[in-house]
Amino acid sequence: MNEFIRNEKGSAIVLITILLTVLVGMAAMVTDTGAVFLTRARLQNAVDAAALAALQDLPGDTAQAVATAANYAATDCPPDAEIDMPQILESDRAVFVSAHKTVHYGLARIIGFDSKTVAAQALARLEPITGVRGALPLGVMKDVWTPGQTVILKGGAQESIFYGWRGALALGGNGASNYEENLKNNYTEILRLDDLVDVEEGNMSGPTLTGTEYRLAGCPHTPACTLENYNTTCPRIGIIPVVEEVLLTDKKGEQTTSKKQVRICGFALFLLSDTEGNGSNGQLTGQFIQGIIQGEADPNGPDFGVYRARLVQ
Ligand SMILES: [Zn+2]
Repeated sequence: MNEFIRNEKGSAIVLITILLTVLVGMAAMVTDTGAVFLTRARLQNAVDAAALAALQDLPGDTAQAVATAANYAATDCPPDAEIDMPQILESDRAVFVSAHKTVHYGLARIIGFDSKTVAAQALARLEPITGVRGALPLGVMKDVWTPGQTVILKGGAQESIFYGWRGALALGGNGASNYEENLKNNYTEILRLDDLVDVEEGNMSGPTLTGTEYRLAGCPHTPACTLENYNTTCPRIGIIPVVEEVLLTDKKGEQTTSKKQVRICGFALFLLSDTEGNGSNGQLTGQFIQGIIQGEADPNGPDFGVYRARLVQ
């Protein structure tokens, strides 16, 4: 009988030990697995934000992009995370950021688990814009697009790009009032790569001056946007279709240039800086800049310095 009682006590201790272990294990799963999950989520958010932020400096300034990515990651990652040196990839149009952190377990150590290292990585990429709403009714010939130089985008009466065309586009209709409205408030329909668009045959000098002055005055920023410091959402900045001549074959089988249309072969960003001239010699000057906007994009699209920022992984 005594022996029986001893055995029963022994069994109870074994049972209690097993139950306690299961309980501790469950508690450890809840708290320590939760900590691992939260740490991984914070790491991922931090590297995502760091990679996207660094795109602002690309493709021009790779050293600054590395610094931006490292700074963002250091600020946003949880304490004691190790951040790897950010990498600039894909012809300076992508940035890769990775980080890891060891989570030291609490309760789980009782059941024999010490720590777990969690890692996160992000690749963000600039993709050239291939389709966009909100373009200006002005085209720039592909070989005239030169970033970083002051250029006359819309010539006066004396200057013609070809066959008397001076750069104005008839988007959604022709005529001075339609052109001026598009210049003031952007063309609302989407334009895409390879679209053929009508050229505006008139000089459009007056509407060019009126529309440009309207946009220059519309800058809400202090100090006003200049090349040194600008906000890409400012009305001083416009999306310009980059265009090429449309070749037609005439009845004799010879190729001629269309006088009515041009073909869109990309998109650029232009910072309006001034209007010059008056009467029939109104000109619009400014500079092509780089920037990130919303729109359709293709990583292999033609690159005129305007991109969509995308988190690839
Ligand atoms: Zn502005």
